[in-house]
Parts: sequence; C-alpha cells; structure tokens
Amino acid sequence: MSFSTVGMSASEIASKVRTGEVSALEVAQEHIDLIKQHDSLLNAYLHITEDLALRQAKRVDEKIKNGEDPGLLAGVPIGLKDNLATRGIATTCASQILKDWKPPYDATVLEKIYKSGAVAIGKTNLDEFAMGSSTENSSYVTTKNPYDLSRVPGGSSGGSAASVAARFTPLALGSDTGGSIRQPAALCGIVGVKPTYGMVSRYGLLAFASSLDQIGPFAHNVADAALLLKVISGHDDKDSTSLSVDLPDFTSQVGAPIDGLRVGIVTELIEGAAPEVRKAVLAAAGVLAASGAKVDHVSVPAVTYGLSAYYLIAPAEASSNLARYDGVRYGLRIEGQDMNETYVLSRTKGFGPEVKRRIMLGTFALSSGYYDAYYGRAQKVRTMIINSFAQAYENFDVLLSPTAPTTAFEIGAKAQDPLSMYLSDVCTIPTNLAGHPAMSVPYGLGENEMPIGVQVMAPALGEANMFRIAAAIESKAPAITRKVFWQ
Ligand code: GLN
Repeated sequence: MSFSTVGMSASEIASKVRTGEVSALEVAQEHIDLIKQHDSLLNAYLHITEDLALRQAKRVDEKIKNGEDPGLLAGVPIGLKDNLATRGIATTCASQILKDWKPPYDATVLEKIYKSGAVAIGKTNLDEFAMGSSTENSSYVTTKNPYDLSRVPGGSSGGSAASVAARFTPLALGSDTGGSIRQPAALCGIVGVKPTYGMVSRYGLLAFASSLDQIGPFAHNVADAALLLKVISGHDDKDSTSLSVDLPDFTSQVGAPIDGLRVGIVTELIEGAAPEVRKAVLAAAGVLAASGAKVDHVSVPAVTYGLSAYYLIAPAEASSNLARYDGVRYGLRIEGQDMNETYVLSRTKGFGPEVKRRIMLGTFALSSGYYDAYYGRAQKVRTMIINSFAQAYENFDVLLSPTAPTTAFEIGAKAQDPLSMYLSDVCTIPTNLAGHPAMSVPYGLGENEMPIGVQVMAPALGEANMFRIAAAIESKAPAITRKVFWQ
C-alpha cells in the first residue's frame, strides 16, 4: 500500500476498498496499529476487537474477489460504544457490574453494519451506563480530548467521539439519551447525530432510559454521518418502539440548495451559552441566510424546563432498567449470608457513585407518596415541551442552537459538582424529551482553540431538512486546522 487511509472519509475508504486500490485487511491493520500506538494516552478504547476486525476485513476482501457486493461501508473501520451488545465480546457499559460479561447476541445495529461491510475495531469508553457528560464516570478510564489531553472529550459517548476526532476510525456509533452523541461530537469537533426516536432499533443497546435512548452515528463530515445512519436505520421487530414508516431520504441532501428553508435560532438556548459559542451559532445562521435560507429568532419557552424534567424521567426509567443487575443471572456477584445481602453487596460493589445517585433519584421520584409530584409532573412538562416545539415548527423547518454551552472543559473541573455537569446538556435534552432528531456540526475553534458545535434540530422524521441545513453550515464553516495529539 503506497498511501495511508488514516484520516480519509468513510465513503472514500469504501470506494477504494471496492475498486481494490486497497484491501480491507490493510485498512483495518493500519487503523489498529495506530490505536495500539497512541490510545494509551487517549483512552478512547476499553478493548480492541482485533480478531473480529481482521475476520470481517478478510470477508470483505473475499466478497470483492468473488464479485459480490461488499456493502455501502466496505472495509470502513468503526468504533462501537461499549453499551452495544457484541456477541461473545465483553460489553461492560464501563461498569464493574458487567466487567466480564459477554452477551450471547449482537445488537441489531451491529448486524446491519456488519452486513454493510463495516469493520468493528473495538469497544469505546463511556460514562458508566451512559450517565454523564465527560467519560469521567467510567469505572475503568477517563477518555481525553484528542485536541488537548488535559480536557474532557464530552460524554457519555466520549470514547466514540475521541476515536473519530483522533482519526482512529472514520466512523463510530454512540447512544444519546440526553445529548450523549451531540455534546461529545461538539467538544471533539466532529459530526454527531441523534435520529428521530424509533428510527434506529434499540435492540441490544443496554438500556438507560428507554423512552429517550437512541443509537446514532459519529463521523468527520455530514455525508458520512448520513451514510452510517442509512445503514443502521429501519424497522426492527425486536424493538417494540421501532417505527414502521418510510424513512426520509437524508443521504441525498448534502449540497442540496437551502433556498427558502426557514431556520429559527432558539432564544432560550442561546442566552446562557458562552460568548464564543453564541458567536459561532450566529455566524452559522449568517451562513445559512447568505445561502438563501430565511433566518429568524424564535422563542421556544418550554425548553427551559427540559433539564428538570429529564432529571426525573431519565433516573426513573434508569432505576427500573438497572434493577436487572442483581448478581443473579449475570454480571458481578458478591456472595452474602442470604439472597438479600447478595443483592446489596453485588450492587454496592458493582455500581459507581453517579449510577447510584440516579437509581436513588429515580426510585424516590417513583415512590408512591411522590409519584404525582415528581414523575407525573415531569411527564406533563414533557408534553409542554413537545407542544412548544410543535408551535415553533409551524413557522420553521429547522431550529438552531449551541450544542453545548461551552467548549471542552478541563478534566476534573466539574467532576465534584453533578449539577454543573448536568448543565452541559441543557441544549440537547429538549429534543430527546420530544423524540425529535438533532445533530451537531463543527463550527471552527473557540478562544482556547477548542472546537465549537452548532446544533440543528428538526421535527420528528425531519432528517432530510436537518441534514440539508447541516451540510450547508459545514460547507462554509471555518476549518479546524489544529492538529490532534499524535499528529
Ligand atoms: N449527560 C446526560 C446524562 O448524564 C445525557 C447522557 C446520555 O445522553 N446518555 O444523563
């Protein structure tokens, strides 16, 4: 191989593999070598799935040799968040309670990407059970930001975002319950998408808050993100909340004209952002206006209650979902005098402090004396948010806001203060509560030379306009010229 495929887009790699310019095996080996050489500084990966990757790459090369279609993602290396079930391969959720657990099945999204020729390079780090915004809640390691190793990559899908930003893989999968794809994408200067709820199967995604969780792509550019979303989306009988509708055509939107599209800048979400972030969102809006979109400011008042509602609903669902980790059927088991003590010991040892905090918050919110006051009320607020968005979408096709209020913060800066950490997701949470799609697009660097992300939101199944607008922003966004730590 006379050239390197590191740093190439997914579609470029797939086309080079398809035409035989490079073999899938060479591509996989090159990316694995890079990770082995540098990930001890970054901690993007909890484990490398080298055997699987090489097997999958060889299979792609064989298909090409036999004249078969190798798939849309032929030979493209991909990182998998470690809350996606991988058959026979450790799936830990970055928790001690699942330390050596090997699922007996693959998540539906993995079956889909494997069929499309993607090559799974490894399992990426996350905040334990996807609860957090920095990966500092991982019980194994803290992932660093590839642009500055003293800063966080965001979270909870921080390992996946760092892998893509560091050029370890052109693609990665994450999950987004309150912002866990978009916020790390913003902090790492890449594209991250949370699809419409129900568009991507949750089968095999280890549940955090089931009414909010969605799997989605990370990529270097909007076109690659659309390509990966196309591969993983679609109805699945194994997920009762999976949509069975015709999916919007979002892959052909990159470069399409945006004349006349109505873009609303959400007043409430721009107000609290750092000045540099606000400036970037307004600059992105300016780009859209100059390209023919109709841009205006819009108030979506109920979004200000998003954070409060989320921190009742998400922990409530988590407290129920995480009841299954009891040391009986699988996962960590610490033997006690009797069954009850075995539960207590296993869960006390197995869960970290943030997970325990959420289980307690959720159990409290659902307890009979408080159910109406907390959980019930939060559900009403959720409806208010849905209605508030519906009103805005009567006049706008997409909405714009910061993805995160600030750029990447220093490791440790918020670790002791859960509330300030929770505030990282103030802009992303409302769309999870509404079930709407939203994505983060990089827009240059801030004062400390760290990436800024702009969020594009759309109504349910509005992915076509969302990608179209995101691509228009991307095409005029200031380039991120800064190098990552190993370059
Ligand atoms: N940071 C948010 C939380 O801690 C969102 C997490 C997520 O989207 N998985 O709950």
